Amino acid sequence: MRTCLFVGAMALLGGGVRADVAYTAPDPLDMRWTFGAHEPYTMYRRMGVRSTGGIHGNCYWLPDWFKWWDSEDCPRLMESLGLNWLLCRFYKGMGWEEEKKDFPNVKRFVENCHKHGVKAVAYIQFSTIYPETMKREIPNLEDWAARRANGTIYYYSRYFRWEPCFNEPKFEEYLKKIIRIALEEGKFDGIFFDNAYMKPCFCNRCKALFHAHLQTIPNPADRFGFDSLSAFGMPEYEKLPWGEVREPLLQEFNLWRTKRMTALYKRFYSYAHSIRPDCVVAANICPYRAPNTVGNKSVDMTEFPKCFDLVMGQVNNCPHVEEDNVIVSRVRDLKYAREYAATYFASCDGAAGDNANEIEDSYLLPLIEDLVFGGVPADRTIMAPYPEKPEYVNHTRLERRRPMLAAFNAFAKANRHLFAAKDWMPVRFLVSGHAMMHSQLSFDSLMASEEAALRGHVPFGYSVSTDENPLPHANDAAVIVVANQTCLSDGQIAALVEYAKKGGRLVCTGESGRYDEWNRQRFSNPLKDAVAELSNVTWRDEPDVAKDKRMTHIQYALYPPEKGVQPMLDDLAKVGFKPQVEVLSAPETVFAQYKQDAAGNVCSVHLVNYVFRKPVKGVRIRIPVGEAPVFTAPFDGAQFGGTPREVAPGIWELPAFSKYAYCTFRPKVEADGLK
Ligand SMILES: [Zn+2]
Repeated sequence: MRTCLFVGAMALLGGGVRADVAYTAPDPLDMRWTFGAHEPYTMYRRMGVRSTGGIHGNCYWLPDWFKWWDSEDCPRLMESLGLNWLLCRFYKGMGWEEEKKDFPNVKRFVENCHKHGVKAVAYIQFSTIYPETMKREIPNLEDWAARRANGTIYYYSRYFRWEPCFNEPKFEEYLKKIIRIALEEGKFDGIFFDNAYMKPCFCNRCKALFHAHLQTIPNPADRFGFDSLSAFGMPEYEKLPWGEVREPLLQEFNLWRTKRMTALYKRFYSYAHSIRPDCVVAANICPYRAPNTVGNKSVDMTEFPKCFDLVMGQVNNCPHVEEDNVIVSRVRDLKYAREYAATYFASCDGAAGDNANEIEDSYLLPLIEDLVFGGVPADRTIMAPYPEKPEYVNHTRLERRRPMLAAFNAFAKANRHLFAAKDWMPVRFLVSGHAMMHSQLSFDSLMASEEAALRGHVPFGYSVSTDENPLPHANDAAVIVVANQTCLSDGQIAALVEYAKKGGRLVCTGESGRYDEWNRQRFSNPLKDAVAELSNVTWRDEPDVAKDKRMTHIQYALYPPEKGVQPMLDDLAKVGFKPQVEVLSAPETVFAQYKQDAAGNVCSVHLVNYVFRKPVKGVRIRIPVGEAPVFTAPFDGAQFGGTPREVAPGIWELPAFSKYAYCTFRPKVEADGLK
């Protein structure tokens, strides 16, 4: 277990949170995730149609599959494949009186898992209540339902699933009961909230709460124009607008909801850990880097990840390349996750365990991406239901993948030290919490600059900037990049100015800092005025721009930046950034990750080829003179391999590789001696 202690800052999140929270995040290198029966029989039958796992809910063999799943044969198969974590069906939102009928089977499954070293996490649905069953137990269930601005009940994807109001205290109480049963009676290793987000609710309870909140705003005339908000209601949009959010009531509504959501999950976290201190509290919160999470989901991604030990991002970005130049990956989310204690696990699908979203030919690519960029390696469909005995899995798929999975696991185990080493991310992209909340322009610009950095093999991570902690990595970053983060508070600006005046390298683009934390335009730009002329600062007025190919709450993909990657690379060079190790030439479809040793020296560079089956030739890297790269392409087979060739002092051309390659470094004399 990785255990981190966050003191002080956590207390600011409110909601009865302890001053210190001991995270019990598991180590992703020890985990292999899989999916199977995390939805109940009742859900499948009620839907009838194809759903989770890719099966028809009305299929004849559904009970047989469940019977096999709950036998010891199922976790025995997982163990033989090296798969050791999964979600287990437990609570789908149908009411415990209904769902407890299946509980004896569920408990047996958990026991069987434990016999075979598999951790089982209890699935708890957060954003659905099923009135057809739950109303038998809670006759006034309508009172729990979330409402649209016009007063009607929200459906969650289907008419027989209502969305609950997360501000209903009885709903919270009910879920706490469910958490207690999971951990005390179910003997689960943890709990997992699915769909841990909610649309804005306009019910009478929320109206009253928000109205009361508005009355606590000091000096409302400043932002709202009026000195009293006593007759104010809610911003009655059918769908909350994105773009430049400047309407004060809308801003306040967004901020208020996210704070309540974070506080609620802090309470769940504390409650679960009060029952079982070593349990894992997990949730599906979709991609960290999704657009407008505040408006769509009531989630502030700068704070919300602090509520969990393990986060699943349901990210429909199974890695691949489209149209030769659109690179689909989960790397942004994997890197962003490194800023939080919670272990991150990115699925690559829209319906867990449905192979319709997979690309079998590049089966190893998502596994390698997870290993290299710090996520939990997952096989999503090897255990998926299939009408084939004796195991209810697709045996052709199983036998095709089994040797690949075994090779992957053996490689990861033998080279654990490579991946356990700290990421080397000297370039830090500032993510302003205020800008992400109020400015689509800031969001889009950051996405575009990240795209340039990924394609340009820049060793980057994030500096997630909030008022409590305005400039993380001020001391260890080689460069901070502020990519058109238009909304910055005085505190954020002060931290950046202090950093730059002390000599910190700073790259700014666009109108970073021109607007304050409420997206209000300032007289002039205090950040630019203070730092633009410093020699360690560069300011490019034209921010990076990249067109979206897709941009939804669970997937995103961008075309290359309109002006390419060079403006970003030039900016880094202008401020004097000269990395110890650098990928000098490689296709943009190869992404790089770098690892460092305890002394801060880069000890390995990893290259993942997103055009997975097309060999890459002529990649050149620059490393310190006097060292030599030791090259390995572990999954490419015997036709690949060889020794890097030094083409100029410190510059090495690597042998061709196809899927993935990495280099470690040794003193040149020693490397020569090995030949
Ligand atoms: Zn409500």
